Amino acid sequence: MKILITGGAGFIGSNLCRSLCDQHDVICMDNLITGKKSNVDGLNVQFLKQDIRTPFDIKCDIIFNMASPASPADFPKIPLDILETNSFGVKNVLENAKKHNARVIHASTSETYGDPLEHPQKESYFGNVNTLGPRACYDESKRFAETICYNYHHKFGTEIILARIFNTYGERMRKNDGRVIPNFITQVLKNQDITIHGDGSQTRSFCYVSDMVDAFTKLAFSDIKFDVFNVGNPEELTVKKLATIISTICKTDTKLVSKPFPQDDPKKRKPDISKIKKILDWEPKIKLNDGLKKTIEWFKSDLA
Ligand code: UDP
Repeated sequence: MKILITGGAGFIGSNLCRSLCDQHDVICMDNLITGKKSNVDGLNVQFLKQDIRTPFDIKCDIIFNMASPASPADFPKIPLDILETNSFGVKNVLENAKKHNARVIHASTSETYGDPLEHPQKESYFGNVNTLGPRACYDESKRFAETICYNYHHKFGTEIILARIFNTYGERMRKNDGRVIPNFITQVLKNQDITIHGDGSQTRSFCYVSDMVDAFTKLAFSDIKFDVFNVGNPEELTVKKLATIISTICKTDTKLVSKPFPQDDPKKRKPDISKIKKILDWEPKIKLNDGLKKTIEWFKSDLA
């Protein structure tokens, strides 16, 4: 199969490249705005430095659309790039899919649920998103992306799977990504205080990247023509508990310091994954403690 992975040099994209490149003909496309070329160095992939905001014409059977900055730390820095990537960029991906009759696995996000009022979140929940807040550039453009995918499927028959990714972590995350796991690991390894936003009682549910890659692969090779799935690990914990677990694994008792709670930061998040479990028999296998140990080892190496 000829597989195009947009955002292929980013965190999840590069792990997908790594997993698929031995059995398939993989093209890794990335504008390197947040991705790193070194994430795919040495892999049997064709690398193209290209931005999905510019129309492209690449013959392929499957497209994984992983292109978009995704860390809340990126949102205030490059909001217009994010808005354009998830609107004009996604349209270009869909045009390419339409032309070559390719199937699209689109990386959507739990951010489409915003600060959810339903818990855990099912695919049927419409969400609670502020259009004018600091996260809106990502949340709203990702919501738009789902809608344009839905309409390409209904108007042109393009096969599209929307995979709503919940918090994911693992090798090849940027050390300075700004998200909670890279921040806490980096702080603990450098013996710096751990920065807790608010009182740390907000919850998240973290999925190890190899489980995420398995889910995306199952979705890609299924015969579903169009659907939306939550993909994540339902093991929920508070941010404060996460800090304790990372300190314990690293055998430190690093001090916690409180920072202001960011505006619109979701107070809880946990995927209901019964749909993907029932239809594709997928569920995460890696326990948080085991995934964190592997991630910490990787962060300790010079590769991160
Ligand atoms: N967070 C924190 N300290 C940090 C970074 C993040 O307490 O140094 C919190 C953040 O406010 C949020 C949670 O950890 O409540 C997860 O944040 P992240 O940026 O990883 O992703 P999000 O789930 O918000 O998209």
